[in-house]
Amino acid sequence: MEDDKRQKINSLDSKIKELSKEKESIQGSCSHKTTKVKFETGTNTMKLYCAECDKEIGYPKKEQIDEFLG
Ligand SMILES: [Zn+2]
Repeated sequence: MEDDKRQKINSLDSKIKELSKEKESIQGSCSHKTTKVKFETGTNTMKLYCAECDKEIGYPKKEQIDEFLG
């Protein structure tokens, strides 16, 4: 039973690694032309992300925060 769990975790971990690599390569080839503001996952910190590839770009400017909070 425990071995099954271990095996499953290992297989999931290697899938996650593979998928993050794919994500990184997409983000690496993106020019981040359009951006959006959203809360960083699990926090209440506002960050600026690429609207296309979702890469974190930095912190939003005041105007962007104002627009986000609407
Ligand atoms: Zn991008």
